Amino acid sequence: MLFDAHNHLQAPALASHLPRVEMELAAIGLERAVVNGTCEADWERVTELAQAHPWVMPSYGLHPWFVDSRTPDWRERLAAAVGKGGAGVGEIGLDRWIEGFDFEAQTEVFTWQMGLAARHNLPASLHCLKAWGALWDLLRMGAVPECGFLLHSYSGPAEMVEPFIKRGAYFSFSGHFLAARKAAQREVFRGIPIERLLVETDAPDMPLPPERARFALPDQADGRMLNHPANLLAVYEGLAELRGLTLENLAAQVAENFQRLFGGRR
Ligand SMILES: [Zn+2]
Repeated sequence: MLFDAHNHLQAPALASHLPRVEMELAAIGLERAVVNGTCEADWERVTELAQAHPWVMPSYGLHPWFVDSRTPDWRERLAAAVGKGGAGVGEIGLDRWIEGFDFEAQTEVFTWQMGLAARHNLPASLHCLKAWGALWDLLRMGAVPECGFLLHSYSGPAEMVEPFIKRGAYFSFSGHFLAARKAAQREVFRGIPIERLLVETDAPDMPLPPERARFALPDQADGRMLNHPANLLAVYEGLAELRGLTLENLAAQVAENFQRLFGGRR
């Protein structure tokens, strides 16, 4: 009964591995996964995956890294994609970490997408790197979906957790927080109210430290290790340890949180 709050199953690097990945996901007991599109070019693939697998919840968005790739009618295309029902809005967000960012364009694109999520009350999945103050200003003053939104792989400070919760935030714990050098972020996650916690892989990105990963997946293009989506179980185990919970108790709570934010199965 495991729920992946954030991955990218549509990534081309996973395509040739998918039959095996699907079997391994079934073996660990995956119940549902939110599959996040990041640019217009991958939205159709997300739809295909959702049609093929009842456990895929599709989500569509223009990621801050890809704002430059948007076409003049990206808004209509996004509205049409989420309009098919059962979908979320994301991955969207703000990023001052990536080289050559255009923050003005990111802000405009994010604000429009958050407005779309708010108008249709769809769960939004947010990415934020080195832009927490700006994100807070937009969330504080702008419309947010009533059902809430996910701050995926939350890397912000502990002091902002409470204000974000007041605006509807959930926080997903990522396997890369299990790395030794991420002790400070693990401390933040130790203090997040249990009813706002979710678990994610971000697969095929953000691999777990090798000693924690249960599944290995070499990228056929360059041989580097991808994050296998079934490492979700190892991420749950790491968070259960951190919170002093049994895996069963954590899984039951996360299932409830996931369904509260993302809704039941279509
Ligand atoms: Zn992502």
